[in-house]
Amino acid sequence: MSQNNHKIGFISLGCPKATVDSEQILTQLRAEGYELVPDYDSADLVVVNTCGFIDDAVEESLDTIGEALQENGKVIVTGCLGAKGDVVQSAHPQVLAVTGPHATTEVLEHIHTHLPPAHNPYESLIPPGGLKLTPRHYAYMKISEGCNHRCSFCIIPSMRGDLVSRPIGEVMQEAENLVSAGVRELLVVSQDTSAYGVDTRYRTGFWGGKPIKTRFKELAEAMGDLDAWVRLHYVYPYPHVDEVIPLMADGKVLPYLDIPLQHANHDILKAMKRPANAENMLRRIENWREICPDITLRSTFIVGFPGETETQFEELLDFIKDARLDRVGAFVYSPVEGAVANNLPNHVALDIQEERLERFMELQAAISADKLQDKIGKRLTVLVDELAEDGVIARSKADAPEIDGTVFVHTDDDSIREGDFIEVEVLAADEHDLWAQLSHN
Ligand code: SF4
Repeated sequence: MSQNNHKIGFISLGCPKATVDSEQILTQLRAEGYELVPDYDSADLVVVNTCGFIDDAVEESLDTIGEALQENGKVIVTGCLGAKGDVVQSAHPQVLAVTGPHATTEVLEHIHTHLPPAHNPYESLIPPGGLKLTPRHYAYMKISEGCNHRCSFCIIPSMRGDLVSRPIGEVMQEAENLVSAGVRELLVVSQDTSAYGVDTRYRTGFWGGKPIKTRFKELAEAMGDLDAWVRLHYVYPYPHVDEVIPLMADGKVLPYLDIPLQHANHDILKAMKRPANAENMLRRIENWREICPDITLRSTFIVGFPGETETQFEELLDFIKDARLDRVGAFVYSPVEGAVANNLPNHVALDIQEERLERFMELQAAISADKLQDKIGKRLTVLVDELAEDGVIARSKADAPEIDGTVFVHTDDDSIREGDFIEVEVLAADEHDLWAQLSHN
């Protein structure tokens, strides 16, 4: 590829949504002939994509900006922390520019000001799937930006704004490009995946010459026609989520639902400004399992939310016992600056929060371990992520990359490659991972 002689260093912090932003900026930079370099010394300028979700992430982002300034001196900041007022400028007034998240065009404009691009970009040399920060065989696909909810513990809507869905034709084109570029698994992400299209009133777009609505179920269905695993993340528990379960049962999309529930007690959920009917939720889960018996359910919960009593916490434990979710992440409530919930009365003392988190995790670990034990002896299709010394590290349909477990497959078959689907038989399990051997017909 022809270069324009300018070299850019890039540091990407934060969640998968931030990773997608980074990939879009990197793809555009390469399209314009900028060279990407891995160290401060050879870079003419450094871009830092920041996270501002919790206080620790803010600190990490500010430290990284400080390091980039010290080691290189020319720094442009983008991402969630950039949207939080003048936090960046007051800590580091020397930065060249600051933008919020999802701001490829602005970031590029700032780079053009400081390092003008060559006149003739060689766009055609960019792979059709764009540049990916994830391994070649899986890719995150961001379908919308922002969120229309106002959960009281969350500041994402104030940083990223209301929901803006990408046109369905564009999303499907990207998905198809990725699959033709060798991607075997598409991970659908957004702040609120099931709200896809609400902001456009489910506008009809076009894909493959046919009309298609900008809507969660229709998107899942269309993506299910591509030759790849499709995994749905950040699915808010709206009633219409039930419509995608038959698609999972039919093998169109993976039988995997990442559905943050946050709590089970009615009053706490109300204080969180979340849907507040745990009994109904249990019935729905039961129904999903009837339709799609091998569905994997992943969720996240907050313990020690302001005002949470011991009885309300125990109600959450009871829910966890009854729901028997497969994968669960839990966090103690942490007062993120700017969150409405900070003003609620009766904050729970940190030692009580931590003690509750421990009890919660202990209970869930036993449930997860128990559920994985059931897989021993079963045959599974797994996707190979990495080659190891005495086998391969893979994932089953039940495991999202980075957050869930892995399947270690002991084998000396050296024809297996990253991105291959292989059939295995499960030999052993703990509470996270499985151990397996190649299955022989
Ligand atoms: S749905 Fe998610 S992103 Fe939206 S306000 Fe609630 S927690 Fe934040």
